[in-house]
Amino acid sequence: MTVTRSTSDLAARFQAAFGDAPDGVWQAPGRVNLIGEHTDYNEGFVLPFAIDRTARVAIRVRADSTLRLLSTYGDQGMTSADTSSLTTSTAKGWTKYPLGVIWALQQRGVAVPGLDLLLDSDVPLGAGLSSSHAIECAVIYALNELTGAQLEAEEMVLVTQQAENDFVGAPTGIMDQSASLRGATGHAVFLDCRDQSARLVPFETASAGLVLLVIDTKVSHSHADGGYASRRASCELGAEVLGVRALRDVEVADLEEASGLLDDLTFRRVRHVVTENERVLETVDLLGTSGPAAIGPLLDASHRSMRDDFEISCPELDLAVEVSRANGAIGARMTGGGFGGAAIALTPVGAEQQVRIAVEQAFSEAGFRKPDIFTVTPAAGAMRLS
Ligand code: ADP
Ligand code: MG
Repeated sequence: MTVTRSTSDLAARFQAAFGDAPDGVWQAPGRVNLIGEHTDYNEGFVLPFAIDRTARVAIRVRADSTLRLLSTYGDQGMTSADTSSLTTSTAKGWTKYPLGVIWALQQRGVAVPGLDLLLDSDVPLGAGLSSSHAIECAVIYALNELTGAQLEAEEMVLVTQQAENDFVGAPTGIMDQSASLRGATGHAVFLDCRDQSARLVPFETASAGLVLLVIDTKVSHSHADGGYASRRASCELGAEVLGVRALRDVEVADLEEASGLLDDLTFRRVRHVVTENERVLETVDLLGTSGPAAIGPLLDASHRSMRDDFEISCPELDLAVEVSRANGAIGARMTGGGFGGAAIALTPVGAEQQVRIAVEQAFSEAGFRKPDIFTVTPAAGAMRLS
């Protein structure tokens, strides 16, 4: 099947596949984290935004308990399941995301009927833009309406987290789904990962004459597993030695004293988290007072901190950042968990072409895979389309 982006096209495809019109079409976006990396599990701050790339689901409620799931991506065929017998070992492939959401709703006592579901997404897979949460958020948003569950956004966030953690088996936090469910056009979502409170912060790139380029290095972050676990362990060790509940409780002013108490490696891990939290707060302030053109130096500092202190960058990400900056971007950093994935470059509209060409050329000269470079705009959160 080819990917289609018109709502009526998707409904027509649904009709062709399942023999009936859908009850509705819902969508939820992927996300980019503007700043605040590896701060979430330290009970700190993150600043993601919803992007103009979305997963869409057309759904029809069935009279029985059968689930039929189909995606326009690839040629994966139809998957069938039954709402009355979902267990954490049921799912394989992409269907674990919608099935996980149904399962997590059931864990909360919500009765979910049988469904026919067609997924169509233009969020690139595995590029660090959270294509998986886009699916989960589109599904929870739709099912919240279709089942009459009437969950608030905060609760939908927790349902998708339970789906990811316990059904899919990925130890993820609340950032991605918070951006996807709570994002708004021209805004980023300032999220406090301690109390899970969220606030929209103006982040309007176009009116500032800027574009946000995503440079997908195509380097898989599959090596992330061990690296992620060891970074978490360092943060826990740091918090324990410093006698705080989480690194959120350490201030930049405490770092000098901390350096005497921690071994060098743990100290550098701690310093990244502590300064990154501070950078998120400064970014939020600057976006409110001066707009996006002012945050470039914070993006640059964030990248250096991840490269040198947290050590989660890779040569492709460093090159993307370096070449973007040398060719007109006003700030750039790797985004996401690290060890691959994408970098972002905040770029004046007039310099966009030059950055694209220079990065592609540098990648080619370095013998790296051709990166995928595209723009994203801060866009709306989950919604019903028809
Ligand atoms: P990320 O969320 O960073 O994009 P993940 O590995 O968490 O990366 O999720 C990617 C997975 O999501 C894919 O392996 C696939 O199973 C699923 N997926 C995403 N988009 C689609 C789609 N349009 N159709 C089918 N599966 C998809
Ligand atoms: Mg994911």
